[in-house]
Amino acid sequence: MNFKFSRYDLRLKHTFTIARGARDVSPVVILELEHEGIVGYGEAAPLARYGESVDSVAAFLARVDVARFDNPFQLESVLAYVDGLSTGNTSAKAAIDLALHDWIGRKLGIPLHQYWGLDKSKTPLTSFTIGIDTPQVIEEKVREAEAYPILKIKLGGGNDEEIIRTVRRITKKTLRVDANEGWKVKEQAVEKIKWLEQEGVEFVEQPMPASDLGGTAWTRERVSMPLIADENSLRLHDVPRLQGIFDGINIKLMKCTGLREALRMIHAAKACGLKVMMGCMIESSVAISAAAQLSPLIEYADLDGNVLITNDPFDGVRSLDGRLALSDRPGIGVEKHI
Ligand code: MG
Repeated sequence: MNFKFSRYDLRLKHTFTIARGARDVSPVVILELEHEGIVGYGEAAPLARYGESVDSVAAFLARVDVARFDNPFQLESVLAYVDGLSTGNTSAKAAIDLALHDWIGRKLGIPLHQYWGLDKSKTPLTSFTIGIDTPQVIEEKVREAEAYPILKIKLGGGNDEEIIRTVRRITKKTLRVDANEGWKVKEQAVEKIKWLEQEGVEFVEQPMPASDLGGTAWTRERVSMPLIADENSLRLHDVPRLQGIFDGINIKLMKCTGLREALRMIHAAKACGLKVMMGCMIESSVAISAAAQLSPLIEYADLDGNVLITNDPFDGVRSLDGRLALSDRPGIGVEKHI
C-alpha cells in the first residue's frame, strides 16, 4: 500500500461567509491510495476552526506510513495507527479513511452503501446552504437554489432579521438555521430561537458557543425548536454528553476522521435518542459522495459542498430535486475528470 497527495484549490461560486469569516477559494488536499493496481480516493478539507490548514494536512500525511500494513481491509488497525500519530488533524485522517474505504469498494466492485447493507432509496433530502450576505446576494442565492426544497440559512453575523426577512419574501420553503456559535448569551439565543419559531424554521444548529453547554441546556428548556449540535459534536466521545442538551448531532467526515468513526457516531447517537444530520465543509465530490454513502441511515443531510464550487475535479453523487441520488459506482462512487 502506498499513497500520494496534492493540494487543490476549490473555487467558490460566491464568496462564502459564516459567523467566523469569509472566503472565495477553499483549498483541499486530494489523496490517492494505491494497492494491487487499484486506486482509492480520499480528501481533506482542513478546518481552520480546529487549527488545520493544507500545510498541516501535508505535514501530517508525510508522517503516515501505510506500507507497514498488508492491505486496506485492515481498516481497524490502519486507522487506529493513523489516529494515534497525534491529536487533532481530523481532516488529514479522514483523507486516509476515505481512500481506504473507496479502495475496498472498488476491490469488491460494489458501492459502500451496499457494503454496509443500506437501501439507497432511503437517502434523505439535502439542504442547500445560504451564507451570510447582503439582501441582494441572498436573493440571488435563494433563486439559484430553486431545485432544493430545503434551505439552510447561516445566521449569527449581526443581520439575522434582515436575512430571514429577505429569504421569506421570496420563498415559503422549509428553512433550517445554523448560527455557528454566533449567539453568545443564552437570553439572546432564546429570543432568536423564539423568533425563528414564528418564521417556520425546522431546527437550529449550534446556537451558542461550544464552550457553553450549560447555556445551551438552559436555552433548550425554554424553546420548542430542536437544537442540533455541530461544533459540540466532533467525535464519538462527544456524543453521550450531548444527550438532554441537544436533540440531534451534525456529523462531518472532516471533524470525526472519516467514515468508520461517522458510522460509530450514528449508532451512538441513535442509542442516546439523538437525531442525526450529516454535514460538510466546502468539499469536492470525493468527500460529499463518501458522506452520501452513509445517508440512508440519517434523518437530515446538508451535503451541498460540491455544488457551491465551480471546478470540481470529480464527478460523484448528484441530487435529484434535492434528494441525494446514490449510483452503483463502486466505493465512494466518484470518477475523476480527465
Ligand atoms: Mg454547522
